[in-house]
Amino acid sequence: MGATVAIIGRPNVGKSTLFNRLVGKRLALVDDTPGVTRDRRPGEARLGDLRFTVIDTAGLEDAEATSLEGRMRAQTEEAIVESDVVLFVIDARAGVTPLDAYFADVVRKSDKPVILLANKAEGRAGEGGLYEAFALGLGEPVAISAEHGEGLAGLYSALLPFVEQVEEDEQAAADEARFAIELDEDGQDLVPEIAAGTAERPLRVAIVGRPNAGKSTLINRMLGEERMLTGPEAGITRDSISVDWLWRDRHVKLFDTAGIRRKARVQEKLEKLSVADALRAIKFAEVVVVALDATNSFEKQDLQIIELCAREGRALVIAINKWDLIEDREAAWQAIRDAQDRYLNQIRGVAICTLSGLQGQGIDRLMEAVFGAYDVWNTRISTARLNRWLTGILAHHPPPAVQGRRVKLRYMTQAKTRPPHFFVFCSRPEELPESYTRYLVNNLREKFEMPGTPIRLSYRKGD
Ligand code: GDP
Ligand code: GDP
Repeated sequence: MGATVAIIGRPNVGKSTLFNRLVGKRLALVDDTPGVTRDRRPGEARLGDLRFTVIDTAGLEDAEATSLEGRMRAQTEEAIVESDVVLFVIDARAGVTPLDAYFADVVRKSDKPVILLANKAEGRAGEGGLYEAFALGLGEPVAISAEHGEGLAGLYSALLPFVEQVEEDEQAAADEARFAIELDEDGQDLVPEIAAGTAERPLRVAIVGRPNAGKSTLINRMLGEERMLTGPEAGITRDSISVDWLWRDRHVKLFDTAGIRRKARVQEKLEKLSVADALRAIKFAEVVVVALDATNSFEKQDLQIIELCAREGRALVIAINKWDLIEDREAAWQAIRDAQDRYLNQIRGVAICTLSGLQGQGIDRLMEAVFGAYDVWNTRISTARLNRWLTGILAHHPPPAVQGRRVKLRYMTQAKTRPPHFFVFCSRPEELPESYTRYLVNNLREKFEMPGTPIRLSYRKGD
């Protein structure tokens, strides 16, 4: 049970060292001499709170029969088949070698997700290799030092979604099996929507906000409506931190900060805690609904929470709750627009929904906005379209010249989604003013229709 992670790469890049680091025991022998026999048992790995099984492919160079590459390839393919996710390791100091490229190809041809690790990158060593690693076409490399235990937080964040996904799938399969048994015993279709729903991955939504913004009322209203539609408790399962909810046939996992607080057994005062609570919920979520109180919205703490969501790169929707208490709605809406211009520039175009959790108004519109924000967050733009756009920008609004020299933006590509993250390759990125980056981000947002999502744009040095 749990995820299986294969460590793949040519000899000597540090696979066994990484294996030992993850398993925490000296299970595999580390040796500089190629051809030394090694133990290849799967290990039970831990990384922070993640638990998974790791398989090391080191040691394959000692078999006798065929060519080295042939043996490595067979071994690698076997490990890939057994795994849920592949850690592809290169030696950042050595850069990308032809053998790395060869194995990258093998990995790429399999359908398994891959995390590219540039090892031996302690200190700032291996920066050159890190840059070269992009050329392998396996996404953004994570710099680590297996020997010195550096960069493990990066590895953790890269692995987290895969490990969680496997656990969720296993849970879903177990649930399905359980429901199948219930159906057999009763001889009738008890709760088909649950069986169908558990097979699908729910959208993870956190509802955060200051104390008293109305989060609990809103969540209860959401669940209450569902109860009326589908009968008592159908489709609803509750654990201490999340609630599964069905909204128009779509599966949603709601994370509720109150639940998280209970789970963490934190005793401090509410007022002080809400930002820390929010952060915990945000980390679980794909889309975050920030609930504001319409009678005093956009207070300092609200802005802190919004800022946190943007920094964590989550899709975002703003819910102006208690709208039923507002008498002059036109004036209130104008004030919200003003606040939007003043405070929400980095998530320009974010959906702002007015609602009343208490009276159950505006919840459907809120959920439509949530799914809309999720779609934008997943935007992927082809490299060809991006570079056509970049060419146009450079023609009409090139970067300002610094000391008579212009920074050259050469090329760009989307490195990640959720949120969209773009790399622009250029000479002397350090000379580009912040204002120019803002201009690029705003223009990208408009041109490719990505309202409200945090957009990341980083520069990579390259000629
Ligand atoms: P494998 O053949 O891919 O399993 O590689 P090993 O784990 O046996 O490591 C090969 C060599 O690289 C050993 O001498 C390790 O000590 C060294 N090594 C592994 N990880 C690191 C690292 O993070 N930094 C440095 N500088 N050396 C490392
Ligand atoms: P939480 O701390 O964010 O979970 O807030 P609660 O859900 O406990 O709500 C705080 C207070 O605001 C309670 O007295 C609720 O009845 C009230 N409240 C919540 N939502 C609304 C709403 O939409 N309209 C009005 N008028 N009151 C609300």
